[in-house]
Parts: sequence; structure tokens; C-alpha cells
Amino acid sequence: MNPNEFPIEEFWMGTGNLSPSAEIDENAWPTAGKWRVPPSTVQVFHKGHTPMTNTAAVISAVLSAADPRIVPGTYAVRLHTGLQLPDLVNVDSTGGSDLLSVGPSHTLSECVSQNPMTGACLSWNYSKPACSTSAQCEGVMECLAPLPADCFTKGALSDAACMNSEACAPGQAGCYCRLPHQARWKYVVAHEAGHQIQHRASGDFSDNEYGFACPPGTTPGTPQCPGRLSQFTAGGVVDPPWVADTCGCAHVKAANQEHCLQSVERSGPAQTEGFAQFYASRSWNEDGGDCTFTYYTEFLDTTCRSSNPGDCKPYTTPGGQPLVSTLPPAAVSCRQPVRWRNKQECSIVSGAGGKAGDYGTEYDWLGFFYSINRPTVATTPRVTTSDLWLVYRHACTQADAPIGAPPKPTPDMCKTRHFVWDASSTTATPFVARLPNGQAETRQVGGFVQGLDAKYAADPTTRDKARADADLFGVSADTSALP
Ligand SMILES: [Zn+2]
Repeated sequence: MNPNEFPIEEFWMGTGNLSPSAEIDENAWPTAGKWRVPPSTVQVFHKGHTPMTNTAAVISAVLSAADPRIVPGTYAVRLHTGLQLPDLVNVDSTGGSDLLSVGPSHTLSECVSQNPMTGACLSWNYSKPACSTSAQCEGVMECLAPLPADCFTKGALSDAACMNSEACAPGQAGCYCRLPHQARWKYVVAHEAGHQIQHRASGDFSDNEYGFACPPGTTPGTPQCPGRLSQFTAGGVVDPPWVADTCGCAHVKAANQEHCLQSVERSGPAQTEGFAQFYASRSWNEDGGDCTFTYYTEFLDTTCRSSNPGDCKPYTTPGGQPLVSTLPPAAVSCRQPVRWRNKQECSIVSGAGGKAGDYGTEYDWLGFFYSINRPTVATTPRVTTSDLWLVYRHACTQADAPIGAPPKPTPDMCKTRHFVWDASSTTATPFVARLPNGQAETRQVGGFVQGLDAKYAADPTTRDKARADADLFGVSADTSALP
């Protein structure tokens, strides 16, 4: 290991009430009569925070949260690696069964030209506001050392120097504002840990396709199929055509635009991401009481979500509606039902004959999971974390079992499939997986409510509370908005 990655903790004189050895010198405190009075604030600085120590701190919070239900095993966590985004220079944190990867700082990027047929990005615009100190950077961005030029052409994974997230040194040329290192986003690291922990406990239950195909014979990005072209779904758009802008991610610059907290997605990906947001929230909030989720990407609404006016950016939708994009971090409640999918009338809700449970938002699923796992009233029946693993495993097992088969005492681990709220009332279709030996395997659609019914066949009180919460948070087929 490189000893430079673990600097020896060195205390700095802060307010003048600490000695260089970090001993509190109470002789320097003012006196009141016979008594020495401690200062109201003791500021301690040290140079010990690194991406490594920050990541370790998040993992400690995940491990020490109530009821984490982590299946015993070895969980690998690595820094400065992850998923290289199509913009080449940015590497996203990811979490899977094998590895939790924590990526470096992001440079703001935007795709400015796409192949009209495939959606692939043809040219990127990188935003590099020049700076010498972080005070000159907008929002939480920091003034960091510049990356080598070829990170923007060859790709960040080509050279370890592309992972550099060091602060701009005094007098250093070419520094620009970037987002903080991803180890600094404690909800990002805990989110990826949530994916990893869920995969080990339940299996990987859902495919994660975020794009939406256009109606046959239409071209993405035209009036017949409006919206931003998906870079991952050929011939598709990132949000369902004609969806409200508050149900999409066109305003997002800090991450990719395929999905975000408020975007309407197929239920499976919304559950997967909502679960990771929930697991991060349960790691950073006490059981009982309020719950705050700190979002690491821009949030679009009619009002600003920050008390700092500098973090509120006017955003005019393509249709001319004036909205406000709150720069990250944006705090939202994980306790209050928002029914974002229903309230915003994410257009998909009103269509397709009562199949609203085929779609959802991460935001609503986050609140739903939190509510059933950590009910506001402690005596309410709760779906414990280990029961949540079983709900998913039951849902997957029931999906592939003959109709009417009783629940297995020990349900199987999930395999990738299309996943919805209610598999008995859905427009989703079976998923055909390609096995390593080249054979195809058909997997039936999984439904959360089928898992719930199988797990709680002998406990209708808990089942019914969870079903009611699903309506309350807007993840089921119920489409009523909050008053
Ligand atoms: Zn995720």
C-alpha cells in the first residue's frame, strides 16, 4: 500500500485553543472567578481525511446501522475505479455482488450531438470553469488539479492519472472546478453498498434498462416521439415520450441523464435504485423519528430545495415552463409520502388501463421501503431487512413456479428478469436471458406484491400494512395524488 494514501494524522492549530500536539491547553482559557471557561467552539483540523478514510467511515456507518442484515462474506471495496461513462472522462461508482467501486471527482459534461439513429453521443462539451481556489466554484464544486488532456479522448481508465482528484496547489496552472470526490458523497457510497448487500442477499432481480423505445415508425427526438435520445436504448428516448419534465432528468448535469431520483422508470429499475437510496438512508438515519435523504444530483421542481439562493438555477423546459433546478446536495425527506409519480402525473400513469404499477420513481420507492422497514410508529408491524430479502426471493421464485404453487419454505435467489409491482396485472413481458453456454432461458415477470403475499401468507396484518403503504407512496397501481 502506498503510505501517501494514509497520511499520519496531523493536528493544526485552529482557534488557538489547541497546542500543536493537539492537547487542549486549558491554561490559555479565560477565567471567570476561580474557574477556567472553555471556549464555545473547539475547532480541530487534521489532514487525515482521504478518499480511503471517508469510504471506511461510510462502511462503518452501514455496518453499525440497526438491522443491516448483511449476509456473512467478504465484501470487496475499491477506490478510483468503477463504470466509465460514455463521456470518457467520468467514472461512476457502482455496486454489484463482487465489488463496490468508488469513483473519483466528476467533471461536468454534456452531450451536444447524438447519432440520430442509435442515440450514441458524437460530441461532448466539458465544463471546466477556471479557478485557483474552491471559493470561486459554484455550489459544492471544488477547485481541483487539471486532468491530463488524453483522459478526455482516450478515456479515464487508460491512465491512473485520470483519477486525480487532488486540490489545486497554490500557483498551479490550469485548475478548474469539479464535483467533490465520490468518497465525499456519503449517500453515494452507501447507495452502492446497498446494491452490493442486496445482490448477496436476494440475488440480482432486475434488468436495468432506462430508455424507452419510440412508437414503431417514428424517430426519436421528433414531434412523433419527443425527448432526449437515449445513449443506451437504440432508437429510444430517455423518458417516456410526452412525459412531464419533472418526471425526467434532462436538467441533470452532475451525472448521466438516463435516470434520476424523480424520473419515471419501469418499476424494476425504479425498485433497484429506490432500494439503494433506501439502504443509504437507513444507514445514515436513526431508526424512529425523521429521515433525510441527501441527493447527489440536481433536483427539478417548481421551487428551490436549498436555502442558499446560489444553489437554485432557473431551468426552462423545452415546452417553456419555468422551473428551478437545485444543485446537489439537495435534501429530501425519506419519511414524507410525496407520491411523485402520481402527483406529477408522469404521463404513463393515466394510460395503459390501470397498469401504473409497471412504472415508478426511485423517490417513491425510497419512501415506501423506508416506511415498511422503519414505520413511524414503532409498534406497527414492520418488514424487517431480512424479510425484505425474502420478499424478493419469494417474488422471483413464485414468478417461475406453476400458477397456484405454494410458497417454498426457502425461496431461491433471484435472477435477472423484468420486475413490476403486480405480475398478475402487467404489460411487462418475460425476459430471455442468454446463459454462458449460449442457451436461452425464459424468466417470467416478477411482482413485488406476489413476493409480499408469499412471504406473509400467515401474517396478513404485515402484508396489508405494506400494501397500504404502497398506495400511500405511489408505487402500486393506485394512481391517486396527494391532496
Ligand atoms: Zn444505483
